[in-house]
Amino acid sequence: RARLFGAASVSSRTFTASSAQHGPSNLRNLIGGELRESQATDWIDVTNPATQEVISRVPQTTAAEFDQAVENAQEAFLSWRNVAIPQRQRVMFRLQELIRQHTDELAANITLEQGKTLADARGDVFRGLEVVEYASGMARDMMGELVENVASGLDTYSIRQPLGVCAGICPFNFPAMVPLWMLPVAITAGNSFILKPSEKDPGAAMMLAELCLEAGLPKGVLNVVHGTNETVNRICDHPDIKAISFVGSDGAGRYIYERGGKHGKRVQSNMGAKNHAIVMPDANREATINALAGAAFGAAGQRCMAISAAVFVGGMDSWKQGLKAKAEGLKVAAGHEEGADVGPLISPESKQRVEGLIQSGIDQGAELVLDGRGVQVPGYERGNFVGPTMLNKVKADMDCYHQEIFGPVLVCLEAETLDKAIAIVNAEQHGNGTAIFTQSGAAARKYQNEIDVGMVGINVPIPVPLPFFSFSGWRGSFAGDLPMYGKQGAAFFTRTKTVTANWKAADDQAGMRAPGLDS
Ligand code: NAD
Repeated sequence: RARLFGAASVSSRTFTASSAQHGPSNLRNLIGGELRESQATDWIDVTNPATQEVISRVPQTTAAEFDQAVENAQEAFLSWRNVAIPQRQRVMFRLQELIRQHTDELAANITLEQGKTLADARGDVFRGLEVVEYASGMARDMMGELVENVASGLDTYSIRQPLGVCAGICPFNFPAMVPLWMLPVAITAGNSFILKPSEKDPGAAMMLAELCLEAGLPKGVLNVVHGTNETVNRICDHPDIKAISFVGSDGAGRYIYERGGKHGKRVQSNMGAKNHAIVMPDANREATINALAGAAFGAAGQRCMAISAAVFVGGMDSWKQGLKAKAEGLKVAAGHEEGADVGPLISPESKQRVEGLIQSGIDQGAELVLDGRGVQVPGYERGNFVGPTMLNKVKADMDCYHQEIFGPVLVCLEAETLDKAIAIVNAEQHGNGTAIFTQSGAAARKYQNEIDVGMVGINVPIPVPLPFFSFSGWRGSFAGDLPMYGKQGAAFFTRTKTVTANWKAADDQAGMRAPGLDS
């Protein structure tokens, strides 16, 4: 791994200030199978959110470097698309094994740069690994169709072909999982790929890129270009890039969807969320409290499938103390510390924003049930920590409700009936995930049927589909047609060619007619 990070290898890093003695290293781009120093004049610091230590620096890739990456990807595509699919799948089989071998190293880097607990970081890697497992048998989702005898002696069949150079733009919150939502599917389908990791925590993506090379991926099939908005604009505008897979916030997602679309690209844009849990009075008490606490405060609430709003049907009173006690019991600590449940937020700006939204809730009339502001974490006084926070009596017009908080904050609402709870969820702009907690099959079925949200959990707090399904957020949480991974992800990275063929025996050729002219 040391090659990627210059002098200081990730595995040799420590979590303390002592690693600063090596000084931050400059990340390289991966272009045409080579790790290249950037000639960038602008560099972005990658910091440890538990300490503010600068870990590495990310280049704002130059225009020439970017064009070089696309040129290499285009060239690699022309041969990669004709590599036999079992061989492309075998690269994914080898990649699986390498990711398993290096899970601890990847997780350590994620905790260092992103802040989540080591257990969550391992989960981040594992959920990505499952997509690599899916891609290892992806040919079945690339099958076409055939109808025999569309006219006498003529057959029509459709085949799925790769698009060309595709690109992925990633958020900070899942530094391994999100790149792995994209690149295994795109590449196994026969495309080449340009990956832009989050500038906030690019280390895991670089390690994965190196593992792809080790797994035998030919040079140029995967390229990594770093940077922020400028790199994203180049991805949207470059005529040789055919499709963009985006995961991130609403503003960036809408912008990329429109800008990429204007340039004729296919775009799948997975954006922000406000995932509601509906808690029915008959819900199993202990299981529901455990599920809510884990889904609202785990990963410091920085999950696009976090439960960030809870609607208590019949009122919150009977749940309040139990949930508060559970939340208070969670340990706020640096992610690598033993027993840590809630790590730091990604940046000081993020902490300030989350604290500001908590205050706005109080100012606008919400009841502060638990306040995680000002939490002290000994030894990590400069970390971006916010402890679990609960606001009750929240209303739809409050800022803490209609903005995505993306922190360990659960906003609580109350509804008299299930119908009213459903109306609340359906009126909110996002539609990523939701969960209902109940022991009534009829209530669960009604919820599943009437809720205008793309991923539904029934007594399951974070219903992220495994990769043989697809990640199907709806409404404000998704722009595009085909979602990520699974059969629909394979469709996103391929297009249909339809062939009509006449292989009639030679002595029948004289009577050949074009289809549609027979009548
Ligand atoms: P972000 O939108 O700030 O950044 C995502 C990517 O877009 C980064 O690579 C960044 O460089 C780029 N970017 C940001 N602003 C841009 C701009 N103005 N112009 C061009 N490019 C821009 O998101 P984030 O803060 O890294 O991630 C958190 C967000 O991601 C949350 O809103 C969360 O809900 C969302 N998310 C959604 C899903 C999903 O599947 N729907 C999954 C994970 C995260």
